[in-house]
Amino acid sequence: GGRVELVDLSKRYGNGEPPAVDDISLDIEPGEFITLLGPSGSGKTTTLNMIVGFTEPTSGRIRLGGRDISRMPPHKRNFGMVFQNYALFPHLTVAQNVAFPLRERKVSTVETTRLVGEALDLVDLGGMENRRPHELSGGQQQRVALARAVVFSPSVLLLDEPLSALDRKLRQSLQREIKRLHKELGLTFVFVTHDQDEAMTLSDRIAIFDRGRIVSVGTPADLYHRP
Ligand code: ADP
Ligand code: ADP
Repeated sequence: GGRVELVDLSKRYGNGEPPAVDDISLDIEPGEFITLLGPSGSGKTTTLNMIVGFTEPTSGRIRLGGRDISRMPPHKRNFGMVFQNYALFPHLTVAQNVAFPLRERKVSTVETTRLVGEALDLVDLGGMENRRPHELSGGQQQRVALARAVVFSPSVLLLDEPLSALDRKLRQSLQREIKRLHKELGLTFVFVTHDQDEAMTLSDRIAIFDRGRIVSVGTPADLYHRP
């Protein structure tokens, strides 16, 4: 299942520095849309990178569906990830970009073609298979990145400020797209942003970060509409 548990998790990059993430615990429920919200430098990206396996925790545990994955390499965790700068391969076509995680997983060609087609339809990019990233708008590139992140049916999708590089109008349309994707796929989404409005629009729950700690967790209504 897509339940992710963070247990007393900390990360210290250097000995003299305060911890980037300071003893946080968070229970992320299967299928929920949770947002890590906080100012720059508050530890959101470090937390996401520990969940996906790019950064090793200094202490604490991460569990997926009850299983300890704290020391498991990223490719075995099977999480989808979307970045602010899209991180598409510029020399590959749209279809080849989306197919990439399937090739790594040795999925057959026939199955790959089917899954790539489905993923591109899901983000409304059918017909764009043979374009290169530079031939697409920023919003389209981010939709390719979304397709690539979900094509292998991960149990969790992690999104690190995926809309921050887009202008206001595109950001709103991509917010709708991401909400729809979450509904259709039923995946656990862990979304990072410093934008409170975005967090309130998208999230089932919000975890507010401040200087490496989680200072409150709740629904948007709990957190922002108290009488
Ligand atoms: P956020 O995503 O909320 O902006 P980060 O997790 O990126 O916060 O950063 C938290 C703290 O950790 C910051 O003080 C930042 O400078 C520091 N930090 C982040 N990545 C590294 C790194 N690779 N090496 C050293 N310090 C880092
Ligand atoms: P190959 O190197 O196997 O000839 P490509 O490098 O062109 O194939 O593409 C890699 C994978 O991307 C293919 O195995 C295929 O499944 C997928 N792919 C490529 N083009 C398309 C397309 N137009 N529609 C759907 N999937 C495609």
